[in-house]
Amino acid sequence: MTKEQIYSTDIEPLLVTPFPSFILLPTGTIAKGNLDHFDYSTLDMERLNTQPIAHTLFSEIGNDTIESILSSTVPQYLQDVAITTKQQTTTLVTLYTKPTTFEGKEAIYVLCIPNDDIRSLNAEQQQLTDLKNGIHQSFMTVTLDSDGFIIQTNQQFLRTSHWTPKRVIGKTFWQLFPISSDSEKVTQTIWKTLQNGHIWQGDVQKITKDEQLYWVHLTAIPLFGTTPERNQYVLIERDITKDKTVQFQLEKIAYIDPETGMINVHRLAQVITSMIEEQRHFSFVYLSIDKFYTIKDLHDDLAGTSLVMEFTKRMKMYFQDSTMARINENEFVVITPLPEWFTQGFLTYLQQNPIYNGNVAVPLSLSGGITRFPEDQTTFSQLMKASLATITSVREAGGDSILSLSKSSHAALNRKSVVEKRLLLALDQKNLHVLYQPQLDIKTGKITAVEALVRWDDEEIGTVSPDELIPIAEETGLINNIGSFMLERACEQAVVWKNAGHQIKVSINSSVREFRDKNMAKSILETLDRTGCPADLLQIEITEKFALEAEAETGIIKQMRILENEGILFSLDDFGTGYGSFRYMQLLPISTVKIDQTFIRALKSEKTQQLVNGMVQLGKSMNLTVVAEGVETKDQQELLTKFGCDMVQGYFISKPVTNDEITSLI
Ligand code: C2E
Ligand code: CA
Ligand code: CA
Repeated sequence: MTKEQIYSTDIEPLLVTPFPSFILLPTGTIAKGNLDHFDYSTLDMERLNTQPIAHTLFSEIGNDTIESILSSTVPQYLQDVAITTKQQTTTLVTLYTKPTTFEGKEAIYVLCIPNDDIRSLNAEQQQLTDLKNGIHQSFMTVTLDSDGFIIQTNQQFLRTSHWTPKRVIGKTFWQLFPISSDSEKVTQTIWKTLQNGHIWQGDVQKITKDEQLYWVHLTAIPLFGTTPERNQYVLIERDITKDKTVQFQLEKIAYIDPETGMINVHRLAQVITSMIEEQRHFSFVYLSIDKFYTIKDLHDDLAGTSLVMEFTKRMKMYFQDSTMARINENEFVVITPLPEWFTQGFLTYLQQNPIYNGNVAVPLSLSGGITRFPEDQTTFSQLMKASLATITSVREAGGDSILSLSKSSHAALNRKSVVEKRLLLALDQKNLHVLYQPQLDIKTGKITAVEALVRWDDEEIGTVSPDELIPIAEETGLINNIGSFMLERACEQAVVWKNAGHQIKVSINSSVREFRDKNMAKSILETLDRTGCPADLLQIEITEKFALEAEAETGIIKQMRILENEGILFSLDDFGTGYGSFRYMQLLPISTVKIDQTFIRALKSEKTQQLVNGMVQLGKSMNLTVVAEGVETKDQQELLTKFGCDMVQGYFISKPVTNDEITSLI
């Protein structure tokens, strides 16, 4: 076998390395290669300027070695060969040599690895080794296989976890954590993160073999194998149980109000939650000092002490061992098993032990609410809400008393919070729907307008009437969502009727809260645009309560005017029930008044007839369309016709019905 046969491999690819490599001919020239590293260019190579390298090589390694390389069948390494660069500096390299052929002649392939590079390669390797040793010495480490079984741990881990290697190998990742729902959540997150190929880092609580809890700062790292089954996960952990203990102590300090030594609201929430978990019965007493800031201003010069300090001193004297919390500057909570009469006795106690400013007793009074667990409310936030609602009603009645709400008030509060929750869901799932009540044009006998009314049948809490729904939605701000839902539906429906050849105006009810949103006008116009609804088919009903507030807030009227300019009409709903009806007729850009149902219901009385007649005439004299609401009988409609009323709406014409039913009426 000739060398050509043995080394017939293509040499070209070997010349493309990051290190200098070339072909050396036994005649003493360099035939081909790359010597950039030694400052020789390709041109140098072509012009044989690289001769000095060949010379040094020949003198350095000697003819014998050249011979032996040429006759060898395996590559040879030559260490610490000095090579002179074009700039006449010397570099030490390791040569990798192997015989080859070049243009049919014997030749040597030479690869030079500069010693500097070898050193740094070794150094990197060393760094990795150091790092690994460092991790093993300073951290606990556990290696898991792709299924989460423990396949390796280090001494540090065994020491802290009290496991023996024999026992722990083959246990699972999950067995290293305590059994609790919190822990389950964390382990699930860690495991998912690892499986998605990401690193997870954080503080977690773990459990030793003998079920002691300890905290670690954990870094969990996925290591990729050649196949997913070969993936491994490494847990690197630092014991932080001591740090955590300090942290808990700090948190405890942060849970105390420094001025009074009472716990704060965050701590109170925890205390209450655990009392509820343990089913311990108690009264939640919320106390609020009446007119606190006025009193504080007047008596800010109590010598060496503060009003709050003096007040809480009395609280502590009276309620003794009960848990007491400071909620804010002038509001406190007492948790007590004692009966209501005892709690109410605190007011008398305060009178008997007044706080003095000099010789003057500071006239301190309290508004308080007592809410019982579990009879009245069953969660911390409900206890808070109910107590605040109680205080509001105490204040409305003049303050200076501590009361509990009636059973029915609590039931109402609870109902409200359930409605709130379900409403969020209903809005999310677009579970509300719309009914339309027709308005009949008396002159033509035709239905020319409808009022859109919200309807909600909840699968859990049943039908919720608008009279219950709207006030809750207004309070929580969800009215904006209801409003935009109704608007969208109304516009879509008006377009459907229009396309079928019916010009039906659709009225929607609007709450003043919606108009407080500065973008209200803009978003109404956008909805018209989006749905293709002409502006003059949309009518917005506002109540007198709305009008009252709009009067005080110029921004609201501005938005109404923008909409009016675009052709949208406004009507004044429940006309006649408020104080300022006549004023609003002049002030606001309205085109219609809707005489309230109460007047229509009482139309049998002659006085009411005169009143309603007057209302119709007033409306007409101001060029407004007059609509009568709640028309239930033929007699009522006839009277209203006689008065000159323009339109009627009510059960006599139709109850609120679906869009399809309206379509069959028009
Ligand atoms: P409203 O705007 O005065 O609406 C008229 C109410 O009277 C409707 O009650 C309607 O069903 C009822 N009604 C109509 N004709 C008669 C009748 O002949 N006799 C009697 N007894 N009642 C009649 P509904 O739908 O329960 O709505 C109650 C109130 O809830 C509405 O009073 C309105 O203030 C509010 N509301 C309803 N839907 C919405 C809405 O989408 N947004 C806002 N902001 N409020 C709404
Ligand atoms: Ca209305
Ligand atoms: Ca009305």
